Amino acid sequence: MTKDHKSDEKHSNEEVTKEPMVKVDQVSKKFENGTVALVDITFEIPTEGFAFIVGPSGAGKTTLLRMLIRDVVPTEGNVYVNGFHVSHVHPQSVPELRRKVGMVFQDLKLLSDRTVFENVSLPLEIVGRKDSYVEETVDKMLQLVGLFERKNVFPAQLSGGEMQRTAIARAMVVEPDLLLADEPTGNLDPATSWEIVKLMETINKLGTTVIMATHNVDIVNSLPHRVIFLQEGRIVKDQKGARYGTV
Ligand code: ADP
Repeated sequence: MTKDHKSDEKHSNEEVTKEPMVKVDQVSKKFENGTVALVDITFEIPTEGFAFIVGPSGAGKTTLLRMLIRDVVPTEGNVYVNGFHVSHVHPQSVPELRRKVGMVFQDLKLLSDRTVFENVSLPLEIVGRKDSYVEETVDKMLQLVGLFERKNVFPAQLSGGEMQRTAIARAMVVEPDLLLADEPTGNLDPATSWEIVKLMETINKLGTTVIMATHNVDIVNSLPHRVIFLQEGRIVKDQKGARYGTV
């Protein structure tokens, strides 16, 4: 989880030679029913960066995130993630891409008949990791997200914040290079929302690039991160590492 190799790279390479984690180049998306969700989107997110995608409901945030894991394919333009040419990647390479990119979906997709531990361990079981590795790695991840004491509980017994933490742990357990989170504070009270954002920041500090979609302008305004503002499928503002608007 500490990703020492990444820190080594950081010290041995010049920043200027580093490839961006995400490069979206003149991307547009028109769905089959004629809805235009994204129009001429261009931006880059540096490796180990932290960015918010902000905008009202329907602005295109989810479509943009789904494009980064090739869940949606652009109608025009190019998408590059972690060295993959995502918009043109061979279907056989998609599982490899998705192992390197963790996504927390808006509906979380937790399995109700599995405990917290069993939900988080699922991605490791799918790739055939040994039981001892699974146990140690999942426990470490549950400690990081503050859910170790709740590992044997089922999703129905969790609070909204705990469910979100479970989904984040499951996305992070394979140690992805990039974490995407779609409205992770959507249904949470302000205090719990802050805890989730602080967790995202911790994950970022440990070496994972983080992109978080939200319409919570209060949170975005209070933190000094990159903010890409979407409206009706277009980038209307891209503020690099500074506060967005006034609090
Ligand atoms: P946001 O996440 O900002 O709320 P979305 O990316 O979910 O926005 O949606 C952007 C637009 O694309 C909306 O008009 C939405 O209805 C439309 N849309 C999203 N997914 C699909 C789809 N699979 N088919 C058709 N239209 C879609």
